[in-house]
Amino acid sequence: MPDHPSALGRWEQRWHPLRREWVVYCAHRNTRPWSGERGGGGKTSPAYDAKCYLCPRNTRAQGHVNPDYRDVFVFDNDYPVVGAEAPEIPGAWNARPLYRRERAAGLARVVCFDPRHNVTLSEMKLAGVVRVMDAWRSQVRELAAAPGISFALIFENKGEMVGVSSPHPHCQIYATGFTFKHIEMELEAVAEHRRERAGNLFAAILEEERRDGTRIVAENEHAIAFLPFFARWSYETWIFPKKRRATLAELDDQEVAGLAALYQEVTRRLDLVEGSSFPYVMSLYQAPLKGGAYGDYHLHFVFLPPLRSPGLKKFPAGPEIGGGNFMSDTLPEDKARELRSVDLPSFKEAP
Ligand SMILES: [Zn+2]
Repeated sequence: MPDHPSALGRWEQRWHPLRREWVVYCAHRNTRPWSGERGGGGKTSPAYDAKCYLCPRNTRAQGHVNPDYRDVFVFDNDYPVVGAEAPEIPGAWNARPLYRRERAAGLARVVCFDPRHNVTLSEMKLAGVVRVMDAWRSQVRELAAAPGISFALIFENKGEMVGVSSPHPHCQIYATGFTFKHIEMELEAVAEHRRERAGNLFAAILEEERRDGTRIVAENEHAIAFLPFFARWSYETWIFPKKRRATLAELDDQEVAGLAALYQEVTRRLDLVEGSSFPYVMSLYQAPLKGGAYGDYHLHFVFLPPLRSPGLKKFPAGPEIGGGNFMSDTLPEDKARELRSVDLPSFKEAP
């Protein structure tokens, strides 16, 4: 393991006593490669880019050489935000109980979806998307057994607009010793609902969405996609497996295939609305991997595209960034209709 003496005091997590959450600082890391300004893949890029650190056979920043991979390729991030090499925090540094620090422990991984530099997940064949979903499940199973890891956030930043660091189709996994805030908030809401109404909050939400029906975007035997009644972003789309599963590790092969198919369909519908590759932040909300009974949690994929209509960016500002509550210019019912009404068979798959 490389030693990072200079990272001490610059790579750590600090406790936010008002929001009651960890903030991770990785200020040692700002030398990482950045090719995001070149845009999000697409038809104009070549299938192989000699300068891309994610393309097969290329050498990455720390001297590691990518294998000549043929489908999904997973590796530990060369510039981890959380990692085994994060410096130990000297005990004396926690003399102030309010201002706690901890080691930024964990694992940061990169998952390349495809060796081709210029495809997006939406353009891949379904079998490729199933392999990606299967790799995610394998990662979650592996991380659940890793010491010091209690949570895994799988996320994809897609498109220049959300600041992706490489146009090569990929996502990342941050495996941490803490649960990310949004999931923690949901766990609290689910527990309260169980206490007060003796039911499952996710089941109640799914029932409301089915009863209403106007916000459902797509559905198959194993999964359902909709914009929730309370969507904050204009195209905020959630995908649930129909059976309640707390983490991806619990899915069987049929569910993986069904979820992959619906996931691909949602990304294609988004692309068709935009008329080109639709930018988004996608995060998997799943239960912690250790430390409790999470039978009431129901995993879901959350797409948060930064647009309010095709080509028009939503800028979260005073109310959203400053105050923390969303003011939306659009209704989820209208956006769900927009996503349903695209001509899905017209989508052009990559050869
Ligand atoms: Zn590439």
